[in-house]
Amino acid sequence: MTVSVTSLPWLAMTTKVTPWSGVSKNLLFLKTSCWTLSLIQRMNALTLMTGITEGDEVGQQAKEDGGQARLNHWFNGVELGIIPPTPTRAAGYQSPQRYRAGCEWTSADWSCSYDAIFMSFWTIYEQSYVGWRDVWTRHSPDWNTPLGNNFDHLILLTDTLVNARDHAVWFSRYRDRFRDQLSRTDPRMFPRRGPVSASASRILQVIFGQDAGLCLEQRLVCSGCGISARAERETYLLAAGSGLDRKIPISLHTVWDNFIQRCQTDPFHQNSRCSRCQGQNKVRCLEMPDVPWIWFEREKSSPVGPSLALTFDSPSQRLSYSLRSIIYAGQNHFTIRFCEQSGKWWRHDGQIASGVPQPDNIQSESQLLMSGARFACIFIYRRDA
Ligand SMILES: [Zn+2]
Repeated sequence: MTVSVTSLPWLAMTTKVTPWSGVSKNLLFLKTSCWTLSLIQRMNALTLMTGITEGDEVGQQAKEDGGQARLNHWFNGVELGIIPPTPTRAAGYQSPQRYRAGCEWTSADWSCSYDAIFMSFWTIYEQSYVGWRDVWTRHSPDWNTPLGNNFDHLILLTDTLVNARDHAVWFSRYRDRFRDQLSRTDPRMFPRRGPVSASASRILQVIFGQDAGLCLEQRLVCSGCGISARAERETYLLAAGSGLDRKIPISLHTVWDNFIQRCQTDPFHQNSRCSRCQGQNKVRCLEMPDVPWIWFEREKSSPVGPSLALTFDSPSQRLSYSLRSIIYAGQNHFTIRFCEQSGKWWRHDGQIASGVPQPDNIQSESQLLMSGARFACIFIYRRDA
């Protein structure tokens, strides 16, 4: 394929361009000599000239630039250059074409659990600063590197002339790649084809890299012999409701704060005695791993409702998390509700509106417990900056 540079007068006027061949897949690639041309413009030029096809990868890589870490952007292994790490798609960003596409469900290959997870992390990623994205990618690189590359491409497409239908095709294609990877990892748990469901919480466990999710760590010291010990306890079942002997509604915020308070004073049951002298262990401090996101599972009958924010306060750490996505289950289907940085809520159901997220009108936290006939079964929180 050959493209004349003069057929792109707007580009030629914007910057000095040099035709440069030799790129894989016979793409003629315009290597700009002026890096002030935005990545979006460059990607637009690429899209207009060649179309982005399956197998193409768009990515970022940290690079040293004058003593500062910068994000270097790549397209199919071709260096596009350094874009200043501005939070271009963070708080308050509103594209005129916001949410014109999303993952679409089909009756041939049920995808609702993958749709729920993919759309949840897509929206969190899209609205997070580059720093959070980096931490998230490094937390679980096998899963989040390809997801992050795909999300980058979806963000670019939002700003290009690609039509909504084509945009939707990319959402479902990337969702399928994620599903392929899960299916290769565990074909029994994540069957690739057919009208079969998969566990959304199992997907979270896999991509978090830990079955029990977040584990709080107690640093203990024996009051008899003074030897130190450590103990861990998971948090993902705090909203489940099975351990609570009450049916009165209670917020996760309250359950969480009570749990943290207890952990700061009482050793976890199995570690209350020293393993050496059987003396009483005391809690010296509580440590929370510095993870970019956490989740909580909830049973249908649980009295625990979602809270918009959770914090962990200790002498050495102050961490805060915000509720960003809720997964709903019922009638053999998963849907989600997700929250923008601005606080505005949206709904995604792969069976509705071809998978395009729909605006929601949430007035209170209690309204978040149900979505139509489905109940909230998973809360996903993102670590604040
Ligand atoms: Zn002891």
